[in-house]
Amino acid sequence: MYKTAFVCDEIFTCHDTPAWHPESPIRVEYLIEFLKRTDLWDKLIHLTPQRATIEDIARVHTKEYINMILSIQKGELDTETIISPHTFTACLYAIGAIKESVDKIKEGLIERAFCPVRPPGHHAEANAGMGFCIFNNVAVGARYAQTKGFSKVLIVDFDAHHGNGTQHIFEEDESVFYFSTHQFPYYPDTGKETERGIGKGEGFTYNVTIRVGSGDKDFMYVYQDIFPSVVSRFSPDLILVSAGYDIHYMDQHSDLKATCEGVRGIVQGILGASDKPYIFVLEGGYDYISLSKSVKNTLEEMLYYPP
Ligand SMILES: [Zn+2]
Repeated sequence: MYKTAFVCDEIFTCHDTPAWHPESPIRVEYLIEFLKRTDLWDKLIHLTPQRATIEDIARVHTKEYINMILSIQKGELDTETIISPHTFTACLYAIGAIKESVDKIKEGLIERAFCPVRPPGHHAEANAGMGFCIFNNVAVGARYAQTKGFSKVLIVDFDAHHGNGTQHIFEEDESVFYFSTHQFPYYPDTGKETERGIGKGEGFTYNVTIRVGSGDKDFMYVYQDIFPSVVSRFSPDLILVSAGYDIHYMDQHSDLKATCEGVRGIVQGILGASDKPYIFVLEGGYDYISLSKSVKNTLEEMLYYPP
């Protein structure tokens, strides 16, 4: 069994969104209640996140943008990207969950971690939030990990949407590899297969576009046949996973048709690609039931795969 942490705090339910908003606190509340009723719960190492600092965020985001967010008590960055009184604190702990995971991995206390954070992060650009995302959690986490000696970080993003923010933040950087599968064409309209990085970073971005209606078989091909060779060529010290569960057929926020067993296959493909540490960070997934079952399958594989 792999030493697998679950890094959670109530603060993740305190980022408030309007009743109509799909990125609701209920996502995490439902997930936790669901997981607590499984025998998996006692096998996980339960950790609480640190509180990240402005300096952590500033490794990725501009000072102007951070100050702008700090100045908003309540408001919106666009019609769907909401700031509530506890949002900034929730963001600090979302990033802090990844920091705690990195530190505990470094100390040898855990090998893998799952961070069920809100708000999500992969659409956030260095100078702008969008698509429910305020700060780019995985990007800030990757930069923090580099300060702790994990020089080469690979980010794999299986959310239904392309992580435009993550790609743009690292597209000129050969020390952070970004691999994404996403429905295309679709929001946010980035992530063409011809986008492969820029300058020194050329070849360190890898986009696989997924057609409307695609399901488990298509994902299996990518994660079991393509992904492992990408990982072995890059040879990362740490792998961060932007885990977005809106690829499920019950989720109304994509036209993809993955099942919960398909998610298990994706996770096996990801975990089988390297013997290095893994940190999974929640991105999308708005259907409470398929989200919870898919995360349960993810955690089972994190505990036991590869045997
Ligand atoms: Zn998404």
